[in-house]
Amino acid sequence: MSQEMDTYIKNYVNGELIEPASGNYLDNFEPATGKVYSHLPDSDEKDVEAAVQAAEKAFETWSMTSAADRSKILNKIADLIENNLDDLALAESIDNGKPVKLAKKVDIPRAVSNFRFFATAILHFASETHEMDNFALNFTLRQPIGIVGCISPWNLPLYLFTWKIAPALAAGNCVIAKPSEITPMTAYMLSEICMKAGLPNGVLNIVHGLGPKVGSAITKHEKIRAISFTGGTKTGREISSVAAPMFKKLSLELGGKNPNIIFADCNFDEMLKTTLNSSFSNQGEICLCGPRIFIEKPIYDAFVDKFVKMTKGLIVGDPMEERTKLGAIVSREHQKKILYYVSLAKEEGGEILCGGNISQLNGRCKDGWFVEPTVIQGLPYDCRTNQEEIFGPVVTIMPFEAEEEVIKYANSTEYGLSATVWTDNLQRAHRVARRLQCGIVWINSWLVRDLRTPFGGVKNSGVGREGGWEVLKFFTESKNVTIKL
Ligand code: NAD
Repeated sequence: MSQEMDTYIKNYVNGELIEPASGNYLDNFEPATGKVYSHLPDSDEKDVEAAVQAAEKAFETWSMTSAADRSKILNKIADLIENNLDDLALAESIDNGKPVKLAKKVDIPRAVSNFRFFATAILHFASETHEMDNFALNFTLRQPIGIVGCISPWNLPLYLFTWKIAPALAAGNCVIAKPSEITPMTAYMLSEICMKAGLPNGVLNIVHGLGPKVGSAITKHEKIRAISFTGGTKTGREISSVAAPMFKKLSLELGGKNPNIIFADCNFDEMLKTTLNSSFSNQGEICLCGPRIFIEKPIYDAFVDKFVKMTKGLIVGDPMEERTKLGAIVSREHQKKILYYVSLAKEEGGEILCGGNISQLNGRCKDGWFVEPTVIQGLPYDCRTNQEEIFGPVVTIMPFEAEEEVIKYANSTEYGLSATVWTDNLQRAHRVARRLQCGIVWINSWLVRDLRTPFGGVKNSGVGREGGWEVLKFFTESKNVTIKL
């Protein structure tokens, strides 16, 4: 695919790959080397306007296209992503710093599933009728909204981008999408795939560039009637402050600080293995990671001993290498942020049990942005390190004695995205799951995903739910029609 020949990414507007109106480009870095390796359009509101005009025209036919025909095109896109899995995984790894092995196993296969899932879900999506005895019949239409905006982050670039775009298109909308400026490459490759798949011009438009320029132009455009956003809580609040007074539909998937609650009666080995993943997968840069680990006292020492040993054994390395478990941190700024939190943890009285430093690699990666997987103990549940999102390979471990106590700790942050609970006591699993303030609870597991289930958070982790029927309802307007008999 073209990322090797053409290092200047283009916008995808009205079915064509085009330059930004300004003619300006931004640098795009490879986190593993710290070097600029490509450029992306520095687009602005002019590019968004052109995309909206294309989408407006395309909507006239796309909204009238049958679900079966939309489904065929979305399935074709899925097939083409699958056929190009290796290229896309390589591009994702170069762009984001994640191990290429992870991109092959998780990111790109999930992008395929996102398109396949909604290509078929739309064929089964149904609406309701309400009959009023012999007097009247109500039926509810579910119609596409029109033009919708999809804005996504850098941590799971193609995975989260397609998680929004696929249902929006399946439901008959036309889309103005903006990937993160930090990881634009696979979105660019997706635009080429959409052209090959025969997606009609203007149905999907991808405008690259900065959040405050392109993202905010999308948010405030009066013809874009819904915004689906995944990213930080602060950005979500900004988007909301503009879009809510315009009465746009809003779906906001925001930050998290998820608890991992471990009771002494759990399957210890299974828990250890999974906790290592829920702590450090994708360098801890997954909104669903569990960086606050609470351990019931009887197994605290055993946990610390084994977990720290296993963490020390994780290989931080070149994302291209098969044996690498943690790749590079996505940007220099983010590396700095993570290290700031490690120093804050020390100031707050935390003891670093392992890690805590930059990981200095040699050769090709000597100037890359790496951080050692870090385990910290001795901090109270309510200190800043335990309340604020770090979004890196840093976890804190804390002992607890009683169920009531750990529920209080778990619910103490401003966030409420997900939680993990480890116990073999069925009643306790039910009890605790019900009392946790979050949108997703995993019992004796982590990141087991069924795309039919509601996905999203409470409190400052967001508004609305993605996944399954929930997102198809979000991307459609219901209209009730009453017929008097
Ligand atoms: P971010 O908020 O900085 O950026 C996300 C997107 O918003 C980017 O495309 C960015 O360009 C755009 N943006 C920035 N400012 C904007 C503005 N003023 N108006 C419109 N758009 C704007 O987030 P990030 O650093 O890319 O991602 C990390 C964050 O995302 C973390 O907080 C993480 O928890 C969160 N996240 C949440 C989920 C979830 O499902 N809840 C999933 C992944 C990541």
